[in-house]
Amino acid sequence: MFSYRHAFHAGSHADILKHITLIQLVQYLQEKPGALTIVDTHAGAGIYSLEDGFAAVSKEAEGGIYRLRDFVEAGNSIPQSIQQYLDCIQADNPEGGMKLYPGSPFILADLLRPQDRLKLFELHPKEIDILRENVAQLKQAKQIDIYAEDSFSRLKGLLPPPSRRGLVLIDPSYEDKQDYRNLEIAIEEALRRFATGCYAIWYPVISRRESAELPERMKRIATTNKRSWLHAELRVENAPGERRLQASGMFIINPPWTLEKHLAEAMPVLVKALGLDGGAKLILKSFEA
Ligand code: SAM
Repeated sequence: MFSYRHAFHAGSHADILKHITLIQLVQYLQEKPGALTIVDTHAGAGIYSLEDGFAAVSKEAEGGIYRLRDFVEAGNSIPQSIQQYLDCIQADNPEGGMKLYPGSPFILADLLRPQDRLKLFELHPKEIDILRENVAQLKQAKQIDIYAEDSFSRLKGLLPPPSRRGLVLIDPSYEDKQDYRNLEIAIEEALRRFATGCYAIWYPVISRRESAELPERMKRIATTNKRSWLHAELRVENAPGERRLQASGMFIINPPWTLEKHLAEAMPVLVKALGLDGGAKLILKSFEA
Protein backbone atom coordinates (compact mmCIF):
# COMPACT_ATOMS: atom_id res chain seq x y z
CA MET A 1 0.00 0.00 0.00
CA PHE A 2 2.93 2.35 0.54
CA SER A 3 4.52 2.22 -2.89
CA TYR A 4 2.68 5.34 -4.14
CA ARG A 5 4.71 8.57 -4.00
CA HIS A 6 3.01 11.61 -5.48
CA ALA A 7 6.35 13.10 -6.56
CA PHE A 8 6.19 10.73 -9.57
CA HIS A 9 3.03 12.52 -10.73
CA ALA A 10 3.71 16.10 -9.61
CA GLY A 11 2.73 18.64 -12.26
CA SER A 12 1.01 16.03 -14.46
CA HIS A 13 -2.13 16.78 -16.53
CA ALA A 14 -4.14 15.19 -13.69
CA ASP A 15 -2.66 17.59 -11.14
CA ILE A 16 -3.49 20.51 -13.44
CA LEU A 17 -7.21 19.66 -13.65
CA LYS A 18 -7.39 18.95 -9.91
CA HIS A 19 -5.55 22.08 -8.81
CA ILE A 20 -7.35 24.48 -11.18
CA THR A 21 -10.66 23.14 -9.82
CA LEU A 22 -9.44 23.42 -6.23
CA ILE A 23 -8.40 27.06 -6.58
CA GLN A 24 -11.78 27.98 -8.06
CA LEU A 25 -13.59 26.24 -5.19
CA VAL A 26 -11.57 28.06 -2.53
CA GLN A 27 -11.94 31.42 -4.21
CA TYR A 28 -15.71 31.09 -4.39
CA LEU A 29 -15.99 29.95 -0.77
CA GLN A 30 -13.85 32.90 0.31
CA GLU A 31 -16.24 35.43 -1.19
CA LYS A 32 -17.93 35.43 2.22
CA PRO A 33 -15.86 36.59 5.21
CA GLY A 34 -16.80 33.67 7.51
CA ALA A 35 -14.03 31.24 8.45
CA LEU A 36 -13.50 28.36 6.06
CA THR A 37 -12.22 24.92 7.09
CA ILE A 38 -10.47 22.99 4.35
CA VAL A 39 -9.71 19.28 4.74
CA ASP A 40 -7.21 17.65 2.39
CA THR A 41 -7.71 13.93 3.12
CA HIS A 42 -4.73 12.72 1.06
CA ALA A 43 -2.06 15.39 1.31
CA GLY A 44 1.16 13.87 -0.04
CA ALA A 45 4.47 15.64 0.69
CA GLY A 46 3.20 19.19 0.10
CA ILE A 47 5.68 20.44 -2.50
CA TYR A 48 7.92 18.64 -5.00
CA SER A 49 11.13 19.29 -6.88
CA LEU A 50 10.58 18.83 -10.61
CA GLU A 51 14.30 18.81 -11.33
CA ASP A 52 15.46 15.89 -9.23
CA GLY A 53 14.14 12.84 -7.38
CA PHE A 54 11.04 10.92 -8.50
CA ALA A 55 9.59 13.72 -10.66
CA ALA A 56 12.77 13.91 -12.73
CA VAL A 57 12.55 10.15 -13.33
CA SER A 58 8.88 10.06 -14.37
CA LYS A 59 8.99 13.35 -16.31
CA GLU A 60 5.19 13.63 -16.00
CA ALA A 61 5.49 17.42 -15.74
CA GLU A 62 6.64 17.45 -19.35
CA GLY A 63 3.17 16.37 -20.44
CA GLY A 64 1.61 18.66 -17.83
CA ILE A 65 2.80 21.90 -16.30
CA TYR A 66 5.80 22.37 -18.63
CA ARG A 67 3.60 21.77 -21.67
CA LEU A 68 1.07 24.30 -20.37
CA ARG A 69 3.84 26.83 -19.68
CA ASP A 70 5.18 26.41 -23.24
CA PHE A 71 1.64 26.86 -24.61
CA VAL A 72 1.33 30.18 -22.77
CA GLU A 73 4.82 31.30 -23.73
CA ALA A 74 3.95 30.62 -27.38
CA GLY A 75 1.39 33.44 -27.08
CA ASN A 76 -1.82 31.44 -26.70
CA SER A 77 -4.42 33.12 -24.56
CA ILE A 78 -5.74 31.44 -21.43
CA PRO A 79 -8.75 32.11 -19.20
CA GLN A 80 -8.51 33.66 -15.75
CA SER A 81 -8.74 30.31 -13.92
CA ILE A 82 -5.63 28.95 -15.66
CA GLN A 83 -3.79 32.23 -15.04
CA GLN A 84 -4.68 32.07 -11.34
CA TYR A 85 -3.38 28.49 -11.21
CA LEU A 86 -0.11 29.47 -12.91
CA ASP A 87 0.22 32.41 -10.47
CA CYS A 88 -0.08 29.91 -7.57
CA ILE A 89 2.70 27.76 -9.04
CA GLN A 90 4.84 30.83 -9.63
CA ALA A 91 4.31 32.02 -6.02
CA ASP A 92 6.15 28.89 -4.88
CA ASN A 93 8.98 29.62 -7.32
CA PRO A 94 9.92 33.13 -6.20
CA GLU A 95 13.21 33.02 -8.06
CA GLY A 96 11.42 32.36 -11.37
CA GLY A 97 11.36 29.18 -13.44
CA MET A 98 9.41 26.11 -12.42
CA LYS A 99 11.72 24.05 -10.26
CA LEU A 100 9.11 23.36 -7.63
CA TYR A 101 5.57 22.11 -7.98
CA PRO A 102 3.23 22.82 -5.06
CA GLY A 103 0.86 20.00 -4.21
CA SER A 104 -2.61 20.60 -2.80
CA PRO A 105 -1.35 21.42 0.76
CA PHE A 106 0.86 24.27 -0.49
CA ILE A 107 -1.71 25.57 -2.99
CA LEU A 108 -4.32 25.61 -0.21
CA ALA A 109 -1.93 27.16 2.32
CA ASP A 110 -1.14 29.97 -0.14
CA LEU A 111 -4.86 30.76 -0.37
CA LEU A 112 -5.64 30.74 3.37
CA ARG A 113 -6.97 33.93 4.93
CA PRO A 114 -6.19 34.56 8.63
CA GLN A 115 -9.61 33.19 9.68
CA ASP A 116 -9.30 29.94 7.67
CA ARG A 117 -7.97 26.54 8.80
CA LEU A 118 -6.38 23.69 6.84
CA LYS A 119 -6.42 20.05 8.01
CA LEU A 120 -4.06 17.64 6.26
CA PHE A 121 -4.09 13.84 6.44
CA GLU A 122 -1.19 11.67 5.29
CA LEU A 123 -0.49 8.02 6.12
CA HIS A 124 2.76 7.25 4.30
CA PRO A 125 5.57 6.99 6.89
CA LYS A 126 8.06 8.92 4.72
CA GLU A 127 5.63 11.40 3.15
CA ILE A 128 4.29 12.46 6.55
CA ASP A 129 7.78 13.45 7.74
CA ILE A 130 8.47 15.40 4.55
CA LEU A 131 5.03 17.04 4.75
CA ARG A 132 5.63 18.12 8.38
CA GLU A 133 9.04 19.55 7.48
CA ASN A 134 7.65 21.40 4.45
CA VAL A 135 4.62 22.82 6.26
CA ALA A 136 6.80 24.01 9.16
CA GLN A 137 8.50 26.43 6.71
CA LEU A 138 5.22 28.12 5.80
CA LYS A 139 4.12 31.42 7.31
CA GLN A 140 0.61 29.91 7.59
CA ALA A 141 1.90 26.88 9.60
CA LYS A 142 -0.08 27.83 12.71
CA GLN A 143 -3.33 27.58 10.74
CA ILE A 144 -2.54 24.04 9.61
CA ASP A 145 -3.08 20.75 11.48
CA ILE A 146 -1.45 17.55 10.25
CA TYR A 147 -2.81 14.09 11.08
CA ALA A 148 -0.85 10.89 10.47
CA GLU A 149 -4.10 8.95 10.36
CA ASP A 150 -6.40 7.11 7.97
CA SER A 151 -8.53 9.95 6.63
CA PHE A 152 -11.30 7.66 5.38
CA SER A 153 -12.18 6.72 8.93
CA ARG A 154 -11.27 10.06 10.57
CA LEU A 155 -12.92 12.56 8.20
CA LYS A 156 -16.33 12.32 9.84
CA GLY A 157 -14.80 13.40 13.17
CA LEU A 158 -13.97 16.82 11.68
CA LEU A 159 -17.46 17.43 10.32
CA PRO A 160 -19.28 19.71 10.46
CA PRO A 161 -16.56 22.32 10.97
CA PRO A 162 -17.30 24.90 13.72
CA SER A 163 -18.03 27.65 11.18
CA ARG A 164 -20.24 25.28 9.10
CA ARG A 165 -18.30 26.40 6.03
CA GLY A 166 -16.10 23.67 4.66
CA LEU A 167 -14.33 22.24 1.63
CA VAL A 168 -13.06 18.64 1.55
CA LEU A 169 -10.59 17.49 -1.10
CA ILE A 170 -10.49 13.69 -1.41
CA ASP A 171 -7.56 12.62 -3.54
CA PRO A 172 -6.62 8.99 -2.86
CA SER A 173 -3.97 7.13 -4.85
CA TYR A 174 -6.45 4.25 -5.57
CA GLU A 175 -3.47 1.89 -5.29
CA ASP A 176 -5.69 -0.29 -3.18
CA LYS A 177 -9.02 -1.32 -4.77
CA GLN A 178 -10.58 -0.81 -1.35
CA ASP A 179 -10.04 2.97 -1.77
CA TYR A 180 -13.10 3.07 -4.08
CA ARG A 181 -15.34 1.50 -1.44
CA ASN A 182 -13.78 3.54 1.38
CA LEU A 183 -14.46 6.69 -0.63
CA GLU A 184 -18.16 5.87 -0.94
CA ILE A 185 -18.50 5.09 2.75
CA ALA A 186 -16.62 8.27 3.73
CA ILE A 187 -18.76 10.46 1.43
CA GLU A 188 -22.01 8.96 2.69
CA GLU A 189 -20.97 9.52 6.31
CA ALA A 190 -19.71 13.03 5.55
CA LEU A 191 -22.98 14.04 3.87
CA ARG A 192 -24.96 12.70 6.83
CA ARG A 193 -22.97 14.96 9.18
CA PHE A 194 -22.41 17.95 6.92
CA ALA A 195 -24.79 17.93 3.97
CA THR A 196 -23.92 21.45 2.80
CA GLY A 197 -20.15 20.96 2.65
CA CYS A 198 -18.37 21.12 -0.68
CA TYR A 199 -16.69 17.80 -1.56
CA ALA A 200 -14.13 17.56 -4.38
CA ILE A 201 -13.15 14.02 -5.38
CA TRP A 202 -10.32 13.23 -7.80
CA TYR A 203 -10.15 9.91 -9.65
CA PRO A 204 -8.02 8.31 -12.38
CA VAL A 205 -9.64 7.02 -15.57
CA ILE A 206 -8.05 3.59 -15.86
CA SER A 207 -9.18 0.20 -17.12
CA ARG A 208 -10.60 -0.98 -13.84
CA ARG A 209 -14.30 -1.54 -13.25
CA GLU A 210 -14.28 0.49 -10.03
CA SER A 211 -12.79 3.51 -11.82
CA ALA A 212 -15.32 3.36 -14.66
CA GLU A 213 -18.19 3.14 -12.18
CA LEU A 214 -16.99 5.90 -9.84
CA PRO A 215 -18.78 8.89 -11.45
CA GLU A 216 -22.12 7.04 -11.60
CA ARG A 217 -21.77 5.91 -8.00
CA MET A 218 -20.98 9.46 -6.87
CA LYS A 219 -23.97 10.78 -8.85
CA ARG A 220 -26.20 8.25 -7.12
CA ILE A 221 -24.96 9.27 -3.67
CA ALA A 222 -25.36 12.98 -4.47
CA THR A 223 -28.86 12.66 -5.90
CA THR A 224 -30.03 10.32 -3.10
CA ASN A 225 -28.95 13.05 -0.68
CA LYS A 226 -30.61 15.76 -2.84
CA ARG A 227 -27.26 17.42 -3.55
CA SER A 228 -26.10 19.19 -6.71
CA TRP A 229 -23.04 17.81 -8.48
CA LEU A 230 -20.55 18.59 -11.23
CA HIS A 231 -18.50 16.05 -13.14
CA ALA A 232 -15.41 17.02 -15.16
CA GLU A 233 -13.08 14.67 -17.01
CA LEU A 234 -9.99 15.56 -19.02
CA ARG A 235 -8.48 13.10 -21.49
CA VAL A 236 -5.15 14.07 -23.07
CA GLU A 237 -4.78 11.07 -25.38
CA ASN A 238 -6.35 7.80 -26.41
CA ALA A 239 -3.53 5.30 -26.68
CA PRO A 240 -4.90 1.82 -25.86
CA GLY A 241 -2.34 -0.47 -24.28
CA GLU A 242 -0.15 2.37 -22.97
CA ARG A 243 0.26 2.18 -19.20
CA ARG A 244 0.54 5.92 -18.50
CA LEU A 245 -2.46 7.79 -17.14
CA GLN A 246 -4.35 9.28 -20.09
CA ALA A 247 -7.38 10.79 -18.37
CA SER A 248 -8.61 11.82 -14.95
CA GLY A 249 -11.67 13.39 -13.45
CA MET A 250 -13.08 15.53 -10.69
CA PHE A 251 -16.46 14.94 -9.11
CA ILE A 252 -17.78 17.82 -7.01
CA ILE A 253 -20.73 17.56 -4.62
CA ASN A 254 -22.36 20.94 -3.81
CA PRO A 255 -20.32 22.82 -6.43
CA PRO A 256 -20.48 26.61 -6.44
CA TRP A 257 -22.57 27.92 -9.33
CA THR A 258 -19.48 29.66 -10.77
CA LEU A 259 -17.43 26.48 -11.19
CA GLU A 260 -19.05 25.19 -14.37
CA LYS A 261 -18.47 28.49 -16.16
CA HIS A 262 -14.78 28.51 -15.18
CA LEU A 263 -14.24 24.89 -16.22
CA ALA A 264 -16.16 25.41 -19.46
CA GLU A 265 -13.61 28.13 -20.30
CA ALA A 266 -10.53 26.30 -19.02
CA MET A 267 -11.04 22.72 -20.18
CA PRO A 268 -11.11 23.28 -23.97
CA VAL A 269 -7.88 25.26 -23.55
CA LEU A 270 -6.37 22.36 -21.56
CA VAL A 271 -7.41 19.93 -24.32
CA LYS A 272 -5.60 22.14 -26.83
CA ALA A 273 -2.54 22.75 -24.65
CA LEU A 274 -2.09 19.24 -23.26
CA GLY A 275 -3.73 17.02 -25.90
CA LEU A 276 -1.29 14.52 -27.43
CA ASP A 277 -3.52 13.03 -30.12
CA GLY A 278 -7.00 13.25 -31.65
CA GLY A 279 -8.42 11.37 -28.66
CA ALA A 280 -7.96 14.37 -26.37
CA LYS A 281 -11.35 15.52 -25.09
CA LEU A 282 -13.34 16.69 -22.11
CA ILE A 283 -16.52 15.81 -20.28
CA LEU A 284 -18.34 18.51 -18.30
CA LYS A 285 -21.75 17.72 -16.83
CA SER A 286 -23.69 18.98 -13.87
CA PHE A 287 -26.97 18.57 -12.05
CA GLU A 288 -28.72 21.08 -9.84
CA ALA A 289 -30.72 19.60 -6.96
N1 SAM B 1 -3.49 15.70 -2.79
C1 SAM B 1 -2.10 15.68 -3.19
C2 SAM B 1 -1.89 16.78 -4.20
O1 SAM B 1 -2.83 17.13 -4.96
O2 SAM B 1 -0.79 17.32 -4.25
C3 SAM B 1 -1.67 14.33 -3.73
C4 SAM B 1 -2.03 13.17 -2.86
S1 SAM B 1 -1.59 11.59 -3.46
C5 SAM B 1 -2.59 11.35 -4.85
C6 SAM B 1 -2.34 10.53 -2.27
C7 SAM B 1 -1.65 10.50 -0.90
O3 SAM B 1 -2.54 9.90 0.05
C8 SAM B 1 -0.37 9.67 -0.85
O4 SAM B 1 0.69 10.47 -0.35
C9 SAM B 1 -0.70 8.53 0.12
O5 SAM B 1 0.40 8.15 0.93
C10 SAM B 1 -1.79 9.12 0.98
N2 SAM B 1 -2.75 8.16 1.56
C11 SAM B 1 -3.13 6.96 1.05
N3 SAM B 1 -4.12 6.41 1.79
C12 SAM B 1 -4.37 7.30 2.80
C13 SAM B 1 -5.32 7.34 3.86
N4 SAM B 1 -6.18 6.32 4.04
N5 SAM B 1 -5.34 8.41 4.69
C14 SAM B 1 -4.46 9.43 4.50
N6 SAM B 1 -3.54 9.47 3.49
C15 SAM B 1 -3.50 8.42 2.65
